[in-house]
Amino acid sequence: QVAAAASTLTGPGQTSDGYGVKLLANVGSVKNVPAADEAHAEGIGLFRTELLFLDRVQEPTLDEQVAAYRDVFTAMAGRRVVIRTLDAGADKPLPFLNQDGEPNPALGVRGLRVARQRPDVLTTQLAAIAEARSQTGADVWVMAPMVSTLAEATGFAAAVRDAGLPKAGVMIEVPAAALRAADLLRVVDFLSIGTNDLSQYTFAADRMCGDLADLLDPWQPALLQLIGVCGAAGRTAGKPVGVCGEAAADPLLAPVLVGLGVTSLSMSPRAIGPVRAALAGRTEAECERLAGLAVAAPDASEARRLAI
Ligand code: PEP
Ligand code: MG
Repeated sequence: QVAAAASTLTGPGQTSDGYGVKLLANVGSVKNVPAADEAHAEGIGLFRTELLFLDRVQEPTLDEQVAAYRDVFTAMAGRRVVIRTLDAGADKPLPFLNQDGEPNPALGVRGLRVARQRPDVLTTQLAAIAEARSQTGADVWVMAPMVSTLAEATGFAAAVRDAGLPKAGVMIEVPAAALRAADLLRVVDFLSIGTNDLSQYTFAADRMCGDLADLLDPWQPALLQLIGVCGAAGRTAGKPVGVCGEAAADPLLAPVLVGLGVTSLSMSPRAIGPVRAALAGRTEAECERLAGLAVAAPDASEARRLAI
């Protein structure tokens, strides 16, 4: 019993009846890896690569990128690292891409869309990731932010494979992509739902706007319904569907997400312990029941109340 209690605190994520849910960490650089280790993260579910590009007038060189990625891959050797290609634009403006002057940057050329104008930036980054992977033992998965269509997912998956990388995925941050999750899973190996942006675009509410926090609440049934579309598509395809936005860090919401078909949760390291404990207190069937109640609720507060 002591061993069982300890594994609830540090072991792999699972429901009380042993249904596994990977608990992963969000990191921005190798500096965050010790915190992920302390939290007994099973890997990294979101490696945000913007840090290296911030405040730079010039794009970082291939070698600089290889070094930064290799640091994280080495620290995580043997474990999964989901690395996200550059998410420039909107709330993450990058000087070297000169994106000034867009009237509406959140709806502009951001994330994977940057590759329309600067395919070289993506190609160099994928080459750096491939080189860093070949020098280390990490299980590297690569995903693109801000994908809206099957054509974009197809193009990205081809670029990832051309770089010699084995696993390509896309983030689900736009309602159009969530609605077509089954299509996207025909061409990619996994999905990762970015609930911060998916909320923003589903509710047409700027994620930076505190006055609209009620619309950005991850318990909003419309958001949960879109997550459910992705989870169902993942189950049918037999492919992983993670959540890596703030929603993944809410211990009460975690069982609901699992009930919706989500197979991994990635969050800031300090949230992992409480989420692990919350999952250990529910059976898989309970997760499904709670998910059904939350999606059917008329509003976010009722969804939260029903799922406790
Ligand atoms: C998200 O949008 O939920 C996400 C994880 O990406 P970011 O917060 O970096 O936009
Ligand atoms: Mg995002």
